[in-house]
Amino acid sequence: MPIVYIALGTNLEPRATHLEKALELFRSLPDVEVKRVSSIYESKPVGYLDQPDFLNLVFEADTDLLPMDLLDSCQNIEQELGRVRTIRFGPRTLDVDIVLYGVESIEEERLTVPHPRMQERSFVLLPLQELNPEFVVPGWNKTVNELVAELPPEDLEEIWKYAPEA
Ligand code: ATP
Ligand code: CA
Ligand code: CA
Repeated sequence: MPIVYIALGTNLEPRATHLEKALELFRSLPDVEVKRVSSIYESKPVGYLDQPDFLNLVFEADTDLLPMDLLDSCQNIEQELGRVRTIRFGPRTLDVDIVLYGVESIEEERLTVPHPRMQERSFVLLPLQELNPEFVVPGWNKTVNELVAELPPEDLEEIWKYAPEA
């Protein structure tokens, strides 16, 4: 069974609730076994800057689903959390990206794995590093640790571990 890594992101309140609900929905899928969940990170938006800060996490799962079926499940969960697609890279209640599907490289119209922008994103690499720092990312042939080390230092100033207000 392949090990997959899935990234969740949200920047519309209640952000932490959106992450919790998404994990609950993944846990309820019969063909997905959620194994480990990273810490939650908070980060400044990149690209489209005029929007609230994001919360992100990555989780590890075993799955019997083929990549395209897993993508369908991810998109169903986005829909259940009420995601509306407006501005590309804009605010969202929940974004679910397949970061890694075992050691496979996939290039289909609807699905590219490893996620094609993972290597430039601290909000994907830092949580992934917690879970599997020595994993060699297909296509890059670099470990997650190496990709983290290559992030521009200024990117690390725009991300921190999320501490919910007491
Ligand atoms: P980004 O892909 O840069 O993170 P985004 O998450 O905001 O941007 P979306 O609007 O959520 O982009 O997704 C656009 C399309 O990307 C989806 O409809 C999906 O078919 C496709 N896609 C390609 N590869 C992946 C992947 N690895 N995980 C999730 N969706 C993917
Ligand atoms: Ca995304
Ligand atoms: Ca997405």
